[in-house]
Formats: sequence, structure tokens, C-alpha cells
Amino acid sequence: MCAVGAAALSAMAPAARAGTEAHFTPGAPGIGDPYFPLEGNGGFDTRHYDLSFSYDPAGDRLEGLAVITAKATQNLSRFDLDLQQLDVSSVTVGPQRAEFARDGQELQITPKQPIPDGRTFTVAIHYGGVPQTIVGSPVVFGSPYGFLHTDDGAFMGDEPNAASTWFPVSDHPADKATYTFRVTVPKGLGVVANGTLMYDVDAGDKSLWVWDEPLPMASYLATADIGHWLVKQGRTPGGIPEYVAVDPVLPDVTVDGVTKSALDFFYDSTAEAGDLWSQTFGPYPFDVIGAIADNATYDGRPLGFSLETQTKPVYSAVRNAGTIAHELAHQWFGDSVSVATWDNIWLNEGFATFAEYLWGEHTGAGSAHDAFLADYSRPATSAFWNQAIADPQRDTMFASAVYRRGGMTLQALREKIDDDDTFFRILKTWTSTHEYGNGTTAEFTALAERISGLDLGAFFQTWLYTPSKPTTW
Ligand SMILES: [Zn+2]
Repeated sequence: MCAVGAAALSAMAPAARAGTEAHFTPGAPGIGDPYFPLEGNGGFDTRHYDLSFSYDPAGDRLEGLAVITAKATQNLSRFDLDLQQLDVSSVTVGPQRAEFARDGQELQITPKQPIPDGRTFTVAIHYGGVPQTIVGSPVVFGSPYGFLHTDDGAFMGDEPNAASTWFPVSDHPADKATYTFRVTVPKGLGVVANGTLMYDVDAGDKSLWVWDEPLPMASYLATADIGHWLVKQGRTPGGIPEYVAVDPVLPDVTVDGVTKSALDFFYDSTAEAGDLWSQTFGPYPFDVIGAIADNATYDGRPLGFSLETQTKPVYSAVRNAGTIAHELAHQWFGDSVSVATWDNIWLNEGFATFAEYLWGEHTGAGSAHDAFLADYSRPATSAFWNQAIADPQRDTMFASAVYRRGGMTLQALREKIDDDDTFFRILKTWTSTHEYGNGTTAEFTALAERISGLDLGAFFQTWLYTPSKPTTW
């Protein structure tokens, strides 16, 4: 466990021997995010989550076994996972029972044998309870979020910190992993999760649904939605495998005088936007594209909720294609290339808003330049402009400026470069060089300067870092 051999150790003074033992230390309780210091965990990288759980809407209870494969990045005497509210009944590390304790959202695990740096290990947690929806968070989301109990099942939308309300997790986008979901529900209900359906099987009055996401995923993008579903599968015209599931109670949708079933509306819009973004931002990064449209409410009110859950965004009371285009743009900007830390959130929302501008060009609704002008027309005295979006602060990380000013920043950059080949080469290089990884604002601005050959220091200073309305750039 230590570089010092047994013979040398026995010759040492007791104080020195104690020093060698101190090489094994607890992993940090957080991964180091400036907005969410306890999210994620230090001392290891997760590689795979194998999540088995049962859920019965009749009692809202979840009973789970999470088996997590991870690799130690330091000599670990103890390590944490994030888990909110739910009860833990046992923890094993490898084949051995481990001690555990709870401290707020930290599940502290002390393995029988300390874990050497570089060692791959598994930790298995038996847990259960009634997952609690997050309501009234100081962070501006405009909606309850996390684990939502629906009339026929459940719906999970966890950004930024709610995955830990339904499974033990290193809950930060800097620690991506692959996922397998094995979800048992009453027979007659279905489950739709990230990735590909491997199989489903009935046993007695239950059915088991197994989904696999083999590409790295940030924890907040995990979802495994339970209920009654209408499903449509196929391929987009561009050839991407597609899987769309909608709640049968959703009403028809009329767009531009054309009425479609909700299933066809989500299927067609997803195919159209997925293919467009594949041409615009680079090849689609995942194995399957789709949508999960549910009838989710909280306190009897429909949730105006959508989230870019990986491979299949979740939608509730959302019936417009612009939102679908926004969530699918996130598959490149947010899902494949995730924020390194949450203060970089405009790299998600600003880019997805810029994609809405492009969607307007595509559908003929109006040019991106006009969409820019509509956003830019806010008076200089508006509080909208008082936010420096490169570091928007935790409680305002989802304020409209992060979205709209972020979108404006990219359209302004496009017009400053004044050459679409160069501008879109920046976006495609960004998505390819950071694929399945993380990015920061500083990395993006450096890439934009390198590819354009322009000195963009003043431009980005004005648009990203200055809390007032840009006038020249
Ligand atoms: Zn978004």
C-alpha cells in the first residue's frame, strides 16, 4: 500500500510509520465547483453506473441497488457519494461490507481495505424511499425539478443537482460515466431511459426494462421515465436511429395549420432538428436520438419543463418545434461537450439559444440577424444587461441573459468574423475536440481566436464579462 518496503518500515521510528499510513486520506466531499461545492466527489472517477431499481406509482416508493465502477485517483481511506433524502441499508466495496455514514447529501463510505491510487473498484449501495421533488430552490429554474411523480409513473429532469434524489452518484458533469438502467415496474407500465432498449420482460405482475447508454454521460442528463407510452421508432432521413415515446393523454398539436398526433409531432420535429444540427454542428454524437414527452404536473399545474436528457430530451407541457430544436442542440452543447464547472453555463444555454436563431432561419420564420436584433432591442436601462454571463452566479445561472445574451454573443461573433465557413468551423472544432468531455469559456474564446485569426479579446470582454449593454464590438 505504500512505496516503503516492510524491512525499511520496521526500521523506522513510530512517527515515520504513522506518516506512511497517512498516505491514505479521505476523498474530498465535492469536486470543486464554485457554485455547488458539495456536488461530485474527490479522490475517484466514476466509470459506470449499473442502476437497478423498482418503482411503484401506487406508493411512490423506489427500492434500488446501485453498482458503481470507479477508479481511485488518490490513496483513499474513505470516499463520498451524493445522495439526498433516501435511506441506505447497506454498502459493499468489492466483496466486503463497508462502513457508511450520512452527513447532509454526503454518503461517506469507509471500505474495509483502503483503496490504492489507480485501482478500479466497485461500490454497491442498497437504498430506497420516496424520492422528493426539489421545490423552491434559490436557483432560478422557474419550475419544480428532479424526480417528479406523475399520474401514471415518474419523470426525471435533474439539472443541475437532482440526480442524487434517485440514485447515489458523483453528481457533477466533470465526472461522466456510462449507464445501465434496470427498472422494474408494475406490469402494463413502460420505462424509457437514455440510450438503447436492450430488452424488456414480464415476470408475474411486474416487468423489467433494461436500457443502456454506452457513451459518457453527465449525471444530470440521466433519466428513466415511467408510465404509459406510445412509441415510434425508425431512422431520421439523415440515418440516425430514432426512438420517441409520448404519454397517450397528450393532445394533438397544430403547427402552421397542420394538425398531427403528439407522437408524430415529436417524431417529425426531432428528426428534422437532429439532421439539421448534424450538418451544422458536426456528426450527431450519440447512438440514438429521440424524445420523451410526458404529462407531468406539480400541485395540479402542468410543468412547463423540458431538459436535454442525453439521447432523448424530456418534455412536459412543451408543444413547439423551437424548443425541440433547442434541446437537441444541447446534445452537442451540454451533453457531448459539458460544462467543466457550472459557471460556464452559457456554453450550454447561449449555444442552444443561438440554435433557436438558426432554427428560425431554417423554417423561414426570420433571419438570425433579426432574432439578434429582437433580443438586442432591450433598452440599456433594463436589468437584463446587468449580468456578466461568463460567471452568472449560482442563483441566476438560468436567468434569461444567460440564454439570450449568450445567443446574441454567438450571432455577433458570426457577424464579426463575417464568413460562415470560418464561424461554423469554430463550432464544429469545438464539438469534435471536446466530444464526450468538458469545456470552459476560456477554451472556447481561445479556439475562436485561433481559427478566426482575429484578436477577439475586446469582443469577448464586452459580450461575456461586462455587465452592461454592448454598444461597440
Ligand atoms: Zn437549454
